[in-house]
Amino acid sequence: MSVSQQVFLRDAMRRLNLTRDVFAARIGVKRRALDTWLLPEGSQEARNMPEVVGRFVTEIVENESLLQKYAQSAQSGPLRQRIAADGKHQLLSVDQFSRESVEELFRIADLMQPIARRQKVSRVLEGAVLGNLFFEASTRTRVSFGAAFCRLGGSVCDTTGFTFSSMAKGESIYDTSRVLSGYVDAMVIRHPDQGSVAEFARATNIPVVNGGDGPGEHPSQALLDLYTILTEFSRLGKLLDGAHIALVGDLKYGRTVHSLIKLLALYRGLKFTLVAPKGLEMPDYILEQVGRHGGHVIEQTHSLEEGLVGADVIYATRVQKERFSGEDLEGYSADFQVNKAIVDQCCGPDVIVMHPLPRDSREGANDLSVDLNDDPRLAIFRQTDNGIPVRMAIFAVLLGVEGLVQHSLRDVTWSPPSHIGPDDSIFHGID
Ligand code: ASP
Repeated sequence: MSVSQQVFLRDAMRRLNLTRDVFAARIGVKRRALDTWLLPEGSQEARNMPEVVGRFVTEIVENESLLQKYAQSAQSGPLRQRIAADGKHQLLSVDQFSRESVEELFRIADLMQPIARRQKVSRVLEGAVLGNLFFEASTRTRVSFGAAFCRLGGSVCDTTGFTFSSMAKGESIYDTSRVLSGYVDAMVIRHPDQGSVAEFARATNIPVVNGGDGPGEHPSQALLDLYTILTEFSRLGKLLDGAHIALVGDLKYGRTVHSLIKLLALYRGLKFTLVAPKGLEMPDYILEQVGRHGGHVIEQTHSLEEGLVGADVIYATRVQKERFSGEDLEGYSADFQVNKAIVDQCCGPDVIVMHPLPRDSREGANDLSVDLNDDPRLAIFRQTDNGIPVRMAIFAVLLGVEGLVQHSLRDVTWSPPSHIGPDDSIFHGID
């Protein structure tokens, strides 16, 4: 073996996406033995791994189908081990999910619904503290992560912007992350640079959730979007396999669509129409990743009308002007506006219209029109409401308390309104 035993084993665990516990179980050794093989050479407790184990692990990692089999057949331990990132209980990218694990997460989100709908309370995270670190603008993501943690009984410490953080004094991501890890039990981080949240995550062993890393990913948003699509489809009696999804707008810088299309690609036979203004098309590296799944049709167009015809889901996005680097485009032209007229013209009565929000409602912005506000096909507030149960499920899984929720439920002591929004129709609200 040319590399050291520790590097070899760590690499195998990373490629199989297995934690030490699961990896040890997979190769049929005791966790304690594995720990001694992973100790630095020369340390007193370090042991050489038996040759037969080395041969077995080499065979797995060098053979693509075995690699997949071992990675997949690990579908037994707790969910947080199966979705772990580099063996840690962190959520950095939707790439951590398989169709099975995402659906398991959604079963946990369903369990959270009575809490999210203010019928029940739970204290399973009592005593735990969340650090909400947002170095970029946020309303929904920051507040809903905070509310989700509180609704499980935890408390939240918030910090917003660079100006009031020590990063303005030149502090590194490593130092910030390590320091905060001594104060809190989980962190949600939003930062303007792609890859920065993974850097935070490398500097800590506590759960970290990517709340948006520049134009990179926004995994929790994509999870709540997919949860919304599945919930809406089940109300409408539709299946996601074979559906037609139109993603509209700034597909170049829109991190929500980057995460969402990869997550949707876990399903079968989808048709994606990608409708972007010239210069804001979906990056190739994402298209290639979706293409690797096989069986999906991807069509790209600059015409909204063409892209929307027959869609089951319209997912509109805001132009991310704050990320522009020399694009000669200010925003949408009028022919890019998703409004009632075009939805009526191109789609059926059971289309659902989504948007990660915020939508730019200023004059001339041509973002998703407010003229759909009374239209039941507009799912944007059902989508934001779903942020709570999905984010509660993420915390419960990462902190390992999902099995305690069911028996922890108590009735609420106050009376919430039957519909939380004045314009909510029956399936928007609490019924
Ligand atoms: N709120 C979403 C995000 O943070 C979408 C947006 O800002 O347009 O990516």
